[in-house]
Amino acid sequence: MDDCLFCKIINGDIPADKLYEDDDVLAFRDISPQAPCHFLVIPKKHIVGPADVAPEDDAIIGKMMRVGSELASKEGIADGFRVVFNNGASAGQTVFHIHMHILGGRDMAWPPG
Ligand code: 5GP
Ligand code: ZN
Repeated sequence: MDDCLFCKIINGDIPADKLYEDDDVLAFRDISPQAPCHFLVIPKKHIVGPADVAPEDDAIIGKMMRVGSELASKEGIADGFRVVFNNGASAGQTVFHIHMHILGGRDMAWPPG
């Protein structure tokens, strides 16, 4: 999609520190990490956010979870990591291409801010 930052990363127009890529998903380190390990997993299909996931997207969302968890193990944070999807600006979503944050490497507080 034009004017989408994460579609530009998928297309290679903007560089990213990639951890994993296949035909369906891409994972890359967050440019502004909020934990010692902080990466994003995104579908290559442009979906705006969690509220826009359609039944046909069920498989890709599940794949994002599996790939993210496997990468968490590779990154050495399998014993404890936070998975976050922000939906909408008031929840902190700033990029409107759905993305799964995975954060680890430090203790996490609850409730989140
Ligand atoms: P959101 O706030 O929408 O849930 O998360 C968007 C995330 O994308 C933020 O954590 C932000 O640091 C990250 N981000 C924004 N621009 C870029 C970029 O150009 N490259 C990378 N790797 N991450 C980005
Ligand atoms: Zn996009």
